[in-house]
Amino acid sequence: MDTLTLKILFMIGVVSSFVIRFPYQRENKQNTIVRDRKTTQEKSLLLLVFIGMIILPLIYVLSPWLNFANYSLPVWVNWLGVIAFAIALWLFWRSHRDLGKNWSPTLEVREGHTLVSDGVYQTIRHPMYTSVWLWCIAQALLLPNWIAGFSGLVSFGVMYGLRIRNEEQMMLEQFGDEYKVYIQQTKRLIPYLF
Ligand code: SAH
Repeated sequence: MDTLTLKILFMIGVVSSFVIRFPYQRENKQNTIVRDRKTTQEKSLLLLVFIGMIILPLIYVLSPWLNFANYSLPVWVNWLGVIAFAIALWLFWRSHRDLGKNWSPTLEVREGHTLVSDGVYQTIRHPMYTSVWLWCIAQALLLPNWIAGFSGLVSFGVMYGLRIRNEEQMMLEQFGDEYKVYIQQTKRLIPYLF
C-alpha cells in the first residue's frame, strides 16, 4: 500500500480510539477514588506511552522529520496490520463497555468498584492490554518507519512490564479471595494460553 493510504488508515484508528474512550473518560472524572496508585512512575509511564503511540506516529504522519528512518514493507504485511488494528479497536471498545464505570486510565479503585469477570473479562484479566498490544503490532505493520513503527511496542512493553503486577496487587488488596479465584479461572492476555 502507498504511504498516504497507510497514514490515513492509521489516523482513522487513532481518531476511533479517542471516540471510543471519550464517554468513559468523562464518566471517570465523576468517580470518587478510594484507592489510588497514581505514583510518579505511573504518570511517567502514561506519558511514555502517549509519546510512543500517539506523538511519534503523528510526527511521522504529518511531517518529514522522521523520513530518514523509513523503509518499505510488503503489501501483505500492511493487510495483516489492518486486520490487527480492526481487532484491536473492537476489543478496545468491548473492554471499555464491559468495565463501564470501573475503567480508569491509571491504577485506581473507585467508590462502588465492582470486579468485572464476564464479557471479554471472562477468560482473560487484561483484554484492554491485549487490545493495546494488538494496536502496537498493527502500528509496526502499518507504519514503515523504524522509529514511529516500533515506538508503540517499546513504550507499551515498558509500561506493561512495570504496571501489571502493581495492578493485580491492587485488585487483590481490594477484592481479596474473589480476585484470587478470578486469577485461577483466567489467563492474562490470551484466552486459555497466556
Ligand atoms: N487491565 C485491565 C483494565 C485496564 S484499565 C484490562 O487490560 O482490561 C485499569 C483499571 O481497571 C484499574 O485501575 C482497575 O481499577 C480496573 N480493573 C482492572 N481489571 C478489572 C476488573 N476485572 N474488574 C473491574 N475493574 C478492573
